[in-house]
Amino acid sequence: MRDIGRLALASTTIISLIASTACTASSGESGDGGAGPSSKPASTAPGTAGAAGIGDPDFPKDGNGGYDVRHYRLKLGYEPAAKRLDAVASIDATALQDLSRFNLDLTGLDVRTIKVDGAPAAFSREGHELTVTPAQTLAAGRPFAVRVAYGGRPEPIRDADNLGVYGFIPTADGAFVTCQPNGAKTWFPANDHPADKATFDFEITVPKGVTALANGEMAGRPRESGGKTTFVWRERHPMVTYLATMTLGKFQLREGRTAAGLPNLAAADPKYASALNDLYTLSGKITDYWSTVFGPYPFGSTGGVVDDYAAGYALENQTKPMYGGFDPDEGIIAHELAHQWFGNSLSIKRWQELWLNEGFATYAEWLWSEHKGEETAEQIFQRHYGSLESPMWEYPPGKARPDDLFNNSVYTRGGMTLHALRQRIGDKTFFDLLRAYTARYKYGAVTTDEFIAMAEERSGKQLDGLFQAWLFTPQRPASW
Ligand SMILES: [Zn+2]
Repeated sequence: MRDIGRLALASTTIISLIASTACTASSGESGDGGAGPSSKPASTAPGTAGAAGIGDPDFPKDGNGGYDVRHYRLKLGYEPAAKRLDAVASIDATALQDLSRFNLDLTGLDVRTIKVDGAPAAFSREGHELTVTPAQTLAAGRPFAVRVAYGGRPEPIRDADNLGVYGFIPTADGAFVTCQPNGAKTWFPANDHPADKATFDFEITVPKGVTALANGEMAGRPRESGGKTTFVWRERHPMVTYLATMTLGKFQLREGRTAAGLPNLAAADPKYASALNDLYTLSGKITDYWSTVFGPYPFGSTGGVVDDYAAGYALENQTKPMYGGFDPDEGIIAHELAHQWFGNSLSIKRWQELWLNEGFATYAEWLWSEHKGEETAEQIFQRHYGSLESPMWEYPPGKARPDDLFNNSVYTRGGMTLHALRQRIGDKTFFDLLRAYTARYKYGAVTTDEFIAMAEERSGKQLDGLFQAWLFTPQRPASW
C-alpha cells in the first residue's frame, strides 16, 4: 500500500471502526438445519473449539485458529444499482486439531446456510466472528469443505484515525475492493489474516456492460446470458486474503505481454482513460526490470487498475495493483509492483513486521529512481537522514504499531534500513541476498529474524547492531 495523501482521506471518513460492528445484526442467528442434526452441536465430541484469532497479538481477533485454508472458490453476483451481493463461498481447508467448531471472519451480510462436507452446520454471529459448528467433529489432519451461502449490501470498514476506508467499497458504477489489512471479511467469509494463504477461483456475475476484475488470469472469455456477464478469474498461486479483489465497473482495457513475455493487463475507468497506455507500458517495463533485480516474477500476469474512487492510496492486489482515483506516477507503480515479491509472494506472519513489505517497496521506489538516472538511493537516504526532526526517529519500524500501522517510519526508515545494509555488505552481496531471499521463501511467509539471519549468512557479517539501530531503537541511528 502507499498513501497519496492521508489528509484527503481523513477528511472524508467520519465513521469510526467501532460503528461498523453495528452492521452485524444477525448475531445469534442459527443455521437452517433447525430440525436436523445441525441444531445439536456435537458437544459430546472430543474435539475442541478453534480459536477466534490466528494468534497475532496486535490483531487478536483477526484470522482464526484450528485449520488452514487451501482454496477459496467464490461465486459472486453483484448488482451495482441495488448495491447487492449474492454469493456462495466454498472453502477447502484442513483441520489442524480435532475441531468441534471453528470460526470464519465475516462482517455485515446475512448468512443463509452453511454446510460442512455437504451436511448442514449450525452457526452463530458475534461481531466479525462467524462460528460454525459442524454436525460431527473434524479430525486433526483431515481435509474438509465449507460452503457458505450469504448476501446483502457489503459495506467497507471505515477507520478514520488509522486504517482509512477499505474492504468492499461500492462505487457509482460497481465497486473498488482493496482489503489491507483485514477487509476481505467485508465480502467473503475468510480466515482473514496473512498467516493463512490460499489459492482462489472467482466467478463473478454482473450486469452486461460492467467489467469484473479479480486476481490472477481470466479462465476463458466472459460469458453472457440474460443481460448478465460472468467473468471467471483464477489465482493459482497462494495469496493472502487482503490481496483478493473483485473490483467492478466500467473499464477500458489494454491487454498484451511485457517485453519479456509476461501477460499484462491494464484497466482504467473511462475518467482515467488517458492514464491507460502509460499504466500498461510502465507496468510491463517495471515488472520486467524488477524480475532482473529481485528474481523471477512469482505470478502468472502483471498489470494494474485505475478506478474512479478517491481512495487516497494504492494497494498491491496480487497481479493487479489498484490505484484509487489518481493517475499513478512511476514511483508508485514501482512500489506496488515490488510488493508482488515483497508482501505478496513473501508475505508476513504478523502485522508488526510490516516493514518487510513496506520498507522493501519504498526502497524499490529509490532503486527505480536510481535506475532512471534520477536521484540515487544514496542521495534519497542522505536526504531523509538529514531530516533531524522527523517523527520517524521515535518510531522503530521493526515493530509496527496496531494503532498506527502505516506510519511513515515503516516505509521510509524501513527503506533506509535496507540502504544501510547495502552500504555495509556491498552491492553484489546485497542484490544477491534479495534474489536468494525471494527464492527461498517464494509463496511462503517471512519474519524479520529470518531476513536478518539470511543477511548474516550471505554476507558473513555480524549485523545485529545494524538492525537493532535501524529497526528497533526509538532514536536516529548515529552509527551502525
Ligand atoms: Zn506499499
